[in-house]
Amino acid sequence: MPLRSVWSDKACPIARSLDVLGDAWTLVIMRELFTGNTRFERLRVALGVADKVLSARLTRMTEAGLVTRVPYSGSVRPRVEYRLTDAGRDALPVLHALALWGAAHTAAPEWARPMAITCTGCGCPTRSADWCTTCEQSLTAERTEWTRPGADGPPVRLAEVA
Ligand SMILES: [Zn+2]
Repeated sequence: MPLRSVWSDKACPIARSLDVLGDAWTLVIMRELFTGNTRFERLRVALGVADKVLSARLTRMTEAGLVTRVPYSGSVRPRVEYRLTDAGRDALPVLHALALWGAAHTAAPEWARPMAITCTGCGCPTRSADWCTTCEQSLTAERTEWTRPGADGPPVRLAEVA
């Protein structure tokens, strides 16, 4: 069920983007896809989301051109995983902007380590959503790694998984 009226025909590109991206589940699914959680079950566990909600969002994201379904050989039967399209990958700065804004203006739980968005070109964390504030290169998925606040382990290199 839509949360609000359709904004796909609005003159403002911010409103049109929100028609596609302006849903919390959509954005956290995209976050997971950038970090390599591309299969339904892994997404479901990582997000703690109900099957029905995840399925509906992935269908909507596929229809909107954010993700594409790619078959892989499952243990029992062929299955699909969800890969970001070029349009989906172009939303990386949107996720970075949310991370930077959230770090500046919302309170993190005490146990969480800070999220770092690191440029793999120079190894420095950035304070910008779309370019490295040290070496000034564009921050594409191929040049970015994330230190995830809610997970242990080394930073995730986005290029290896997206
Ligand atoms: Zn850099």
